[in-house]
Amino acid sequence: MELEDDVLTCLFTSDFKLLVAEEDYGIGVETGGILYLPRARELRSVLPHVLNGCTVNGGSAYTGILSEGFTEYGPQFKVVELRPMYSVLQSDSFAVACKCRQMLHWNIHSRYCPRCGVETNLLAENAKKCPKCGFEIYPNLSPAVIVRITRGEEVFLVRAKNFRSNHYGLVAGFIEAGESIESAVYREVREETGLEISNLRYYGSQPWPFPSGLMLGFTAEYKGGQIKLQEEELVTAGFFGRDNLPPLPDKMSIARRLIDEWVEAKK
Ligand SMILES: [Zn+2]
Repeated sequence: MELEDDVLTCLFTSDFKLLVAEEDYGIGVETGGILYLPRARELRSVLPHVLNGCTVNGGSAYTGILSEGFTEYGPQFKVVELRPMYSVLQSDSFAVACKCRQMLHWNIHSRYCPRCGVETNLLAENAKKCPKCGFEIYPNLSPAVIVRITRGEEVFLVRAKNFRSNHYGLVAGFIEAGESIESAVYREVREETGLEISNLRYYGSQPWPFPSGLMLGFTAEYKGGQIKLQEEELVTAGFFGRDNLPPLPDKMSIARRLIDEWVEAKK
């Protein structure tokens, strides 16, 4: 595939770390330079070593996996975790990298027809078709809900077993097949915490490409019930005032945006 020079190029290692370039490398700013997503022209010698390559956003970006063990990309490049790049890359570049991560995951996992096992053909950037049985495959999302529950001047926070650090977050869970979004919120809250909520309001959403999530954020008020934790999911939970908040999720998450908005609302 011949790429135009200006195409944004999001290459990942086989464990989905991102290749970024460091600005002004070699003219004195060898460490701590600004990181950015490279363009195809900067990676001409690297592109032949890319597997599962595919274009994204109408051809304005390209993504793929560096072949196993390939590290000859040059000292002006760095391999980094994608998630912390939220506060490092420009926001539009970060959004492109997230989309690339998600599309690459789809590209790798849709090589064969799930119905008959034959290798699929690419119809468009975001569509494939089985040449034998005609089955069509599109990138699928896994939507999840997350909700900020307040009770007077307190917010309800939980610590889930799958959190990487010791921070507290909001009740969240995947929407089940055949379920409406709002039913999923009521069900998750009830199942995980034993609480009932009211005044459910949509807040906003966030793509979560680890690997194919979409977080739908809500606010609600405590209506009733005693805290009874689902022990397979949660370690602990409780209502917290603004003056005694526990460690919170990192800034990039919609959970943190929901909590910060509540904290700021009082100032
Ligand atoms: Zn098929």
